[in-house]
Amino acid sequence: MNIRDKILIVEDERSISGFIKTVLVGNGYDVILAHSGAEAFSMVSSHCPDLVVLDLGLPDIDGMDIIEAIREWTQLPIIVVSARTLEKDKVEALDKGADDYITKPFSAAELLARVRVAIRHTRASGIMTGSQKYVSGDLTVDYDKHMVTIKGENCHLTQNEFKIVALLSRCAGKVLTYDFIMKELWGPQSRGSNQILRVNMANIRRKIEKNPADPKYIFTEVGVGYRMVEAE
Ligand code: CA
Repeated sequence: MNIRDKILIVEDERSISGFIKTVLVGNGYDVILAHSGAEAFSMVSSHCPDLVVLDLGLPDIDGMDIIEAIREWTQLPIIVVSARTLEKDKVEALDKGADDYITKPFSAAELLARVRVAIRHTRASGIMTGSQKYVSGDLTVDYDKHMVTIKGENCHLTQNEFKIVALLSRCAGKVLTYDFIMKELWGPQSRGSNQILRVNMANIRRKIEKNPADPKYIFTEVGVGYRMVEAE
């Protein structure tokens, strides 16, 4: 018998928590519900869920504070669900340690895809070795050879371009903020302009995308960062 993943939904609007619950239960997940921040804290510690779906706008505690508090003691994946379309809120949530975000209104398919990615990434972290390849469509990232190919043809990425694609592909399906990418690649002193990243990304797209204006492999999350398509 499979052990089902248990997902905690923290959401004060019953219609939305009901929708999320229906979708997740229908797809084989166990679901528990919290309708306030205080309830969420007690359920995270008493039920040890595999993932939290967290609404940022709760009646008692700000969702950002909940992310921060959870991150003090566990790496349990958190997907933020928010009506806030402000990019700075998405960035703040991700930088505080949320794994992903979905903006209301969202579809069942979108929710399930995000949940799958977040759970897979916690399982995979620590197991990932440097000798794997990432493959999606015609694109292959070979971490050993430091090479990206399309249909077997070398794309001739520069070292910086390769580092960006390698990082995004290792976190495929997850959005990475500009700040996170810059710090990972160029160290903590690299705060500031995203210009270098944008220039590199334009070059990467010219090399790997058939139509750089309509990318298939690396998507821009406007004002937030980049997300690479999931591997096959
Ligand atoms: Ca709410």
